Amino acid sequence: MEILDGKKVSNQIKEEITVKVAKMKQRGEKVPHLAAVLVGNDGASLTYVGSKVRSCKKIGFESTLIHLPEETTQEELLKQVDQLNNDPDIDGYIVQLPLPKHIDEEKVLMAVDPDKDVDGFHPTNFGKMALDMETFISATPFGIMELLKRYQIETEGKHTVVIGRSHIVGRPISILMSQKGNPGNSTVTLAHSRTKNLKELTLQADIVISALGVPKFLKADMVKDDVTIIDVGITRVPDETREKGYYITGDVDYENVSKKASYITPVPGGVGPMTIAMLLKNTLLARERHNAQ
Ligand code: NAD
Repeated sequence: MEILDGKKVSNQIKEEITVKVAKMKQRGEKVPHLAAVLVGNDGASLTYVGSKVRSCKKIGFESTLIHLPEETTQEELLKQVDQLNNDPDIDGYIVQLPLPKHIDEEKVLMAVDPDKDVDGFHPTNFGKMALDMETFISATPFGIMELLKRYQIETEGKHTVVIGRSHIVGRPISILMSQKGNPGNSTVTLAHSRTKNLKELTLQADIVISALGVPKFLKADMVKDDVTIIDVGITRVPDETREKGYYITGDVDYENVSKKASYITPVPGGVGPMTIAMLLKNTLLARERHNAQ
């Protein structure tokens, strides 16, 4: 069994970006600038955004955090989005999800300029991804593809079972795994909460990508020997014995499934760090595209 070390690979990617940014600086060019909009004080969101901003600083990007109060109205947020769309200094930005309940997420995401949508959530970018066109692929599925690529995992002709059909992970990764290319060329089954015979399906899988958010959902008796496991799930499980009051776990019963797997991503340290690295990669891409315009 080999661990797919997302932390290590994400550090490699960040180093590659750092070198590129240093060269941009040497040439006197503007460096990539990522902005993040956070509404409210959700603990997990604060952690994610904080880590994105810190990563920007480390690799030489400019970054701006726009932290708005929980009671921000939809109109105010849309105004903020409009300002970011029209600010030539900002290459890309993200609106951290989830948004407070009184704000229509879809409306906000639709208002983001697709050229600055480094999260790849805008329908234009999602559509381009589905049509194999150049675009911003959203960071988590992009990170999974990059991890498979760098570990040279054979995906062609393999049966991939994706669990979960969310717009940000399950659905896009199912499309990417079936696309013509490497990684890709996989035969994909997309399972979800209404799937009736999940175990029958996962037992046939060469690759399982689990993105449902239920701790230790995927058990050893649900997979065959030598399977490749990509665990996207991140759940905070309350635990008073820990300093933070919780621990992080994935969708996979790692201890037992890892004994059967040929490759497996740990949680934490697997897909999570890759997500941030690919967001940075998308921001660099945005800068390069703006430079070329
Ligand atoms: P979501 O909650 O939007 O969707 C969950 C999906 O799982 C749904 O499509 C649902 O149909 C499916 N599902 C639920 N119960 C099921 C069951 N019993 N059997 C089969 N399918 C079932 O989830 P999401 O936003 O895609 O996130 C999923 C998990 O991935 C969460 O733990 C989230 O925190 C994590 N996540 C991690 C990263 C990362 O960077 N590693 C990024 C995004 C999400």
